[in-house]
Amino acid sequence: MRSISIFGATGSVGEQTVDLLLRAGGANAFRVVALTGGRNVARLAEMARELRAEIAICADDAGLAELRERLAGSGVAAAAGAGAIAEAADRPADWVMSAIVGAAGLVPGFRALRHGRTLALANKESLVTAGPLLMTEAAAHGARILPVDSEHSAIFQALVGEDIGAVERIILTASGGALRDWPLEALARATVQEAMAHPNWAMGQRITIDSASMFNKALEVIETREFFGIAPEQIEVILHPESLIHSMVGFRDGAIMAHMGAPDMRHSIGYALNWPDRQALPVARLDLAQIATLTFRAPDLARYPALRLARVVMARRGLAGAAFNAAKEVALDHFLAGGIGFMDMSGVVETALEALDAELGDEKTNICLEDVLAMDHLARVRAGEVARGMAGER
Ligand code: NAD
Ligand code: MG
Repeated sequence: MRSISIFGATGSVGEQTVDLLLRAGGANAFRVVALTGGRNVARLAEMARELRAEIAICADDAGLAELRERLAGSGVAAAAGAGAIAEAADRPADWVMSAIVGAAGLVPGFRALRHGRTLALANKESLVTAGPLLMTEAAAHGARILPVDSEHSAIFQALVGEDIGAVERIILTASGGALRDWPLEALARATVQEAMAHPNWAMGQRITIDSASMFNKALEVIETREFFGIAPEQIEVILHPESLIHSMVGFRDGAIMAHMGAPDMRHSIGYALNWPDRQALPVARLDLAQIATLTFRAPDLARYPALRLARVVMARRGLAGAAFNAAKEVALDHFLAGGIGFMDMSGVVETALEALDAELGDEKTNICLEDVLAMDHLARVRAGEVARGMAGER
C-alpha cells in the first residue's frame, strides 16, 4: 500500500488532493501518514479521521488543544507548530504533496527530498527561493520532484520521451487574471475583492491575487528556469484568456507540443499521483467544437511589472529569488490589509530588491538552506519598511 503525506492538506490544492485520494479508495487504498494544515483545525481533524492518518499537525500552537479534542478516540496523533510540520517530513512516506502556500513550504519539502521521497511540488515558492539547492538535494538522494503547478505539469507531460536538448523554447500560458481587461489607469485603484474574481481558476486567495498582478506568472517563469534547467531567454509568456492550453514546449524542428484540458488542478495533481501511469480522473472533458476558438496575445509589461522583475531575478541569481519571493509575500500582505494599492506591490518588491542588492551574492556564491531562510527574513523586514513608507504617502 502506498504511503502518502500532504503538507497544506486544508488548502485549495490540499483539498483537491484529498478528493482524489478519497475517490481512489481513501484509507483502504493508501496509508496516510501526515496531514498538515493552518488554522482550519476542524477541517484538518475531519480529513485526518476520514483518511485514518497517523498524525495531523496544525501550524499554530493555539490550535493544538482543539485539534486534540477533535481527534480524541480516533487514533490519530496531534501536533502543532512549524517544527512539528518539518519533523513530519521525516516520517516515511512514498509520496509527499508539498501544498503549503509561501516560503513556509520550503523546509518540509526539502526534508522530504533528503529522505529520497517522491515530492509532488505545488509549492512553487520552494523552487523560486532555493531552486538549485532543491534540485541538488533531490539528485543527491535519488528523490524525484513531480511538478503540480498546471503549467509545469503540462511542460513535464509534453517532454515525456523527448530530449531536453531539443527544446528551443517553453511557452507559459497565462490567463491574465481578474483585471486583464481593465484600463491600465484603473489598476491602481483595484480592490482585493476585484482582484479575487479570477475568470477561470478557483484557487487560494494569495495565488488568485498573484494571478491578477502576474506575480504568479513571474514565480512560474523562475520555477520553469529552475526545474527544467532552461535558459531565461528560452522562456516566453503568452496571454491565453481561455486557460485551456496549460503551456507549450517548442522544439528545434519548429514543432510545438501544447497540453490542453479543463482548468482543473485535479488534472496535474492526479498526474503526479498516478505518474508514470495515467488513471481516469474526474475532470471535465473539452468539447472543442463548443469552444471553437482559442485566443492569444502578448502580455503588456506596463500592466505586469512582475514579469520584468522575474527577468531581473533570473539574471541576478544568488539569493535574488529568495528576496523576490519574500518581498512579494509582504507586498501582498500589505495590499490585502489595505495599506498599499494593487500597482504598488511591484514597487515594493523592486525597491526592496534594490536595497538588498549588495547582500544577494551571485551564481558563484555557495548558498545553503540557512542562507535562503536568512534572506527570506531580511527581505521581509526591508519590504515591510518600504510598504509602510508607501502606505504613509498614500
Ligand atoms: P491555500 O492558501 O488554499 O492553502 C495553503 C495551505 O497551507 C493550507 O493548508 C494552509 O493552512 C497552509 N498554510 C498556510 N500558511 C502556512 C504556514 N505558515 N505554515 C504551515 N501551513 C500553512 O493555497 P493553495 O492555493 O492551495 O496553494 C498552495 C501552493 O500551491 C502554493 O504554493 C501555490 O502557489 C501552489 N499552487 C496552487 C494552485 C491552486 O490552484 N490553488 C495552482 C498551482 C500552484
Ligand atoms: Mg500555475
